[in-house]
Amino acid sequence: MKTAIYPGSFDPFTLGHLDLLTRSAALFDHVIIAILENRNKTPFFSFEERRDMILAAVDESKISNVSLEYYGGLLIDFAKQKEAAAIVRGLRAVTDFEYELQLASTNKLLAPEVETVFLMASTQYAYLSASTVREVAYFGGDVSAMVPAVNLQRIVERLKENE
Ligand code: ADP
Repeated sequence: MKTAIYPGSFDPFTLGHLDLLTRSAALFDHVIIAILENRNKTPFFSFEERRDMILAAVDESKISNVSLEYYGGLLIDFAKQKEAAAIVRGLRAVTDFEYELQLASTNKLLAPEVETVFLMASTQYAYLSASTVREVAYFGGDVSAMVPAVNLQRIVERLKENE
């Protein structure tokens, strides 16, 4: 049984995240989505909102070997606790590379038994980020090509509320 952790802020969960999750779920027996507390970023969507949207997207996509947890500590401790074989991360542009390399190297130092696996972003989502979604939706732009259809209304309304 090979478990992978897919960590992130998912603020909100995008089609790029869903693409990576779907591909990871095909490679591993079980994928745990870990919504991590990030000390450097205050999330726009609450944990409950992010959780509900991710679960709705997973449900709609009919991926069955995925579960979700929140973790407030160090990612590598969570991975060890879950006896995960790997941490999955996405690489978009080269700008992701340096940060991801640093993260993966640190985690390797802390727990050599846990691998970090990188999947290249699919071409159509290579420039898609959660912050882009928030920015476009805030100014009333169309984000239907960026987020799972099941969450579109919720995201648009929530950003409108915040105006
Ligand atoms: P973090 O705050 O850890 O960067 P994110 O929620 O932004 O969390 O992203 C979580 C993971 O998903 C990261 O590995 C990121 O590279 C990946 N990711 C984000 N957007 C995309 C995308 N459009 N295509 C593929 N992977 C992506």
